[in-house]
Amino acid sequence: MFSLNLAHPGLQRREENAPGRFYTTHDCDACGTCFLYAMKNMMYSYDSTYYFVYRQPANDREERDLRRAMNLCPMHCIRDDGDPS
Ligand code: SF4
Repeated sequence: MFSLNLAHPGLQRREENAPGRFYTTHDCDACGTCFLYAMKNMMYSYDSTYYFVYRQPANDREERDLRRAMNLCPMHCIRDDGDPS
């Protein structure tokens, strides 16, 4: 049975993420892949050591792009909490 270890800091949502359902966790290694596919929603940190969701998708196109970035993220650290608010 799968169990989620919430104590692992890598699974925690970064504070910089815009409020909303999509976010990155501390597991990001700053590879930049997500930025190539979801440039309107992803941004790099001031020191370029990680990326975060700086704007939630505003339309279906942006959500599709962000989901593509999620699927390609090598660290699996772009998450969707399923809450549309
Ligand atoms: S694709 Fe994933 S690991 Fe790479 S920069 Fe984006 S969030 Fe970080």
